[in-house]
Amino acid sequence: MIDTIRVVSLKCVCCGARLEIDCDMSAFACGYCGNELYVERKGGTIALRQVVDAVKDVQAGTDKIAAEMALVRLEKEREQWVASLTAVDDNYSGMCTYITTASNCTIVLGLAASALVFAIFSQTGFFHYLFKIALILVVIAGMWWAYQRRAGDHDRIAKRYYEDREPIVKYMVALDRQIESKRAIVES
Ligand SMILES: [Zn+2]
Repeated sequence: MIDTIRVVSLKCVCCGARLEIDCDMSAFACGYCGNELYVERKGGTIALRQVVDAVKDVQAGTDKIAAEMALVRLEKEREQWVASLTAVDDNYSGMCTYITTASNCTIVLGLAASALVFAIFSQTGFFHYLFKIALILVVIAGMWWAYQRRAGDHDRIAKRYYEDREPIVKYMVALDRQIESKRAIVES
């Protein structure tokens, strides 16, 4: 339909002046305001646009493609960081389980040792009692020592855990901010 029309009348998008446009024209300057205009043919319609706007659109399109590509890269990177964080978390919970098990074993061993002391040294008498009390004190001291060691291990592991985790979390916050801004460009 447009092909059959030779000349159309359109308003300048800058100054509003009526312009007679030859369909062969693609770009020209408005005779009234001098702004550069661009004849846009889209789906059977014809419209005038300011060249500056058309350039802006191309720029926006390019930005969008760049943002889409960046988004793919950033999301892949995020997945890797999530995997790292999961590995750090799993390692920590594994260590905690080990320490809890070791502590429980210490208690069981201590109780077993105490029972053994009573079973083996079953004789009565002052010195035997004194000997038994001394042995049990040794067992209690051993348990206490083992317990302190486990607590120290746990503190060290917890400290390491937070040291490993903190930079990853910080980096991921920054990454999420980047992803959000790229997504905003893609969805604009
Ligand atoms: Zn004009």
